[in-house]
Amino acid sequence: MKILVINAGSSSLKYQLIDMDGERILAKGLCERIGLDGHLKHTPVVEGKSVFDEDIKLPTHSEAIAAVIDKLTSKEYGVVDSMSEIDAVGHRVVHGGEAFACSVLINDAVMDALEECTPLAPLHNPANLTGIRACTKVMGSVPQVAVFDTAFHQTMPKKAFTYAIPYEYYEKDKIRRYGFHGTSHRYVAGRAAEMLGRDPGELKLISCHMGNGSSICAINGGKSVDTSMGFTPLCGLPMGTRCGDLDSGIIQFLMNKYGLSIDDMMNTLNKKSGVSGVSGVSSDFRDLDEAASKGNNRAALALDVFHYSAAKFVGSYAAAMNGVDAVIFTAGIGENSKATRAAICGYLGFLGCSVDDEKNSKRGEEIDISTPDSRVRLLVIPTNEELVIARDTKEIISKA
Ligand code: ADP
Repeated sequence: MKILVINAGSSSLKYQLIDMDGERILAKGLCERIGLDGHLKHTPVVEGKSVFDEDIKLPTHSEAIAAVIDKLTSKEYGVVDSMSEIDAVGHRVVHGGEAFACSVLINDAVMDALEECTPLAPLHNPANLTGIRACTKVMGSVPQVAVFDTAFHQTMPKKAFTYAIPYEYYEKDKIRRYGFHGTSHRYVAGRAAEMLGRDPGELKLISCHMGNGSSICAINGGKSVDTSMGFTPLCGLPMGTRCGDLDSGIIQFLMNKYGLSIDDMMNTLNKKSGVSGVSGVSSDFRDLDEAASKGNNRAALALDVFHYSAAKFVGSYAAAMNGVDAVIFTAGIGENSKATRAAICGYLGFLGCSVDDEKNSKRGEEIDISTPDSRVRLLVIPTNEELVIARDTKEIISKA
């Protein structure tokens, strides 16, 4: 069975074609600048086929999907003979609200329910919906499945997802913590149980997904019980350019003082804050590590703020679960930055966390970086959201 995994953004579309026999990636790629001019990079992962990396006209997502199918089936760049070999499409959808606690086969009723979730994620869900419609247009009746960033967190208890504002805002407007990166947290939690040779049902895990966006998740018995992102992906840890948790009084103060509109203010909090805003150097941790090592104090401060915040979340989630068996590091920073892992674990001695420096110097591979006497296992696990989407899609269409 071959499954096309799609992650559609407002002007981009990432894809992977996965052969589920052996869970092998056949090709992957990225359409960019959709609606502006257009560029496609298509990379076959089989021998004898060429990479395509050129500007091509992509006025809408439909042309982007058509271009992807064209490359996937072409003689020079292709990995399948025809579109009929693609059994299903799995879509990443950012927000499933309270309507979706697991992945679903897409039909008209699901599309209507997804439209209803759009106000909750006005920047992301419309693009995901556009991706689904484009596939329907180009691929006809091929089954499509939606896999949600929020679904894994629907197991959070009310005390974890309720904000202390008038309750009617939850009842009327669904204002609550939803959490994101659920597909990634679910994947690494599953791998952690396998690495530890333990039943997921008996494990208390804390997963640190740290990339351009970052979130931490408490997973008790295989279920998300709390997570650092909230109603939107703006809260929790400071991120590359997002502020993370913030006293909401600051918003009123700055808007009044500088005559900012709410759009200006949100733009600052989303795009000019985080470690980029603090350091004035970059949102990329590689740049921050380099600047800090050359004596840039604000780069060092930005890293300190990030590490301290991450450690506080891990500590509070250990309290929330009354213990922790393993802390997992994943995504761009979690998988690659030994300095960040060491700095966060440096705060966690009270939990019995102890890092093996030599193992921690490895990058981008699945590894237990704790010392044998560490009371908590410290695991680096490269995430694989596309594989989770493909597996869910396979399971759902096999049952349909
Ligand atoms: P996204 O959230 O967009 O999926 P990623 O998970 O790919 O992002 O993470 C990207 C980030 O990972 C980069 O901005 C950078 O901060 C960080 N990163 C990647 N490689 C390294 C590295 N070798 N050392 C430190 N940080 C890294």
